[in-house]
Order: sequence, then structure tokens, then C-alpha cells
Amino acid sequence: MKNIKCHICNYENESADGQATLCVACGAELADPKSETKLMEAITSATCATSDQLRDVRKECSIYLTDRRLIVIPADVQFTGLNLTGILAAKAAQALHNKMTSNFGVISIPVKNIKTVRDGKFGLLVKAIIVETTGGEMVKITVPKRDEWKSALANAAK
Ligand SMILES: [Zn+2]
Repeated sequence: MKNIKCHICNYENESADGQATLCVACGAELADPKSETKLMEAITSATCATSDQLRDVRKECSIYLTDRRLIVIPADVQFTGLNLTGILAAKAAQALHNKMTSNFGVISIPVKNIKTVRDGKFGLLVKAIIVETTGGEMVKITVPKRDEWKSALANAAK
């Protein structure tokens, strides 16, 4: 068993033959690392919330912005289990190429689908960034270096 570390999210993908093609955690193309470039990442102190009504369900997350996608991976998502691996890989592949998906709690938004990036809040005090997609879905995140993230998101969406 040889592990392949994802160049975007650092997940150690199990690969029986060293031939894994998609990261099961984020959907990045492992066989072609140059196809996607990581621009920003926030891990320990990041939180996120998603829902139709943007209820404030906050979770610890790893958040990545690449030249192709905004990816939010909640810390409590488990990727272990051989049966699940195949399913996740397929879902991740869909997430990469289609609209925003949230399978097993992992969110992947193609930057071309980002419509607006604006200020928001968690509760009364915590400043957040709200990302809305062309499909009307929303993700709310809090990150360190909020201004940097906001401009990076806006630039990536252009
Ligand atoms: Zn990955």
C-alpha cells in the first residue's frame, strides 16, 4: 500500500498500486498536480457554515482556495473505509467539474460559479465572508487574514 499525498489538501490517499487518480478528500487530480494550484489555505482556526438559510452551524474546517475551486473540508469528516473510498472519489470528481456539491460534508465550489463575495457575520460579533454561487447556494466562512481571503476569492472568481 503506497500513500499519495494530495498537493491541495495534504490528505494521504491510499493507493494499492500507486495509481490513485483523484483525491478522495477534495477531488484534486493526483496524477496531474499541475492541473490545479493552491492559492490560500486556512486550517486550525477556520470555521464554516452552509445551509439554504445560512443557519449558524459552525464547524472546524480546513479551507482551501485554488485557481479552480473553493474547498471546505469539515474536520469531522471521515474518509476511512474502502467501500466509501470509491464513492467519495466519484462524488469528488463530480464536485470538481459540476456545480457546488456537499457530499459527506465536503464542499467544492468551482471559482467560475462564484457570483458574489461579501461581508457577513456569525452571530453578532464574528466577522465572516459570505460566498454566493450562481446557483444561489451560499457558504459562510471565518478565516484569519479575512481581507486577504476576500480579495483572493474575488480575484479567483473573475
Ligand atoms: Zn485533496
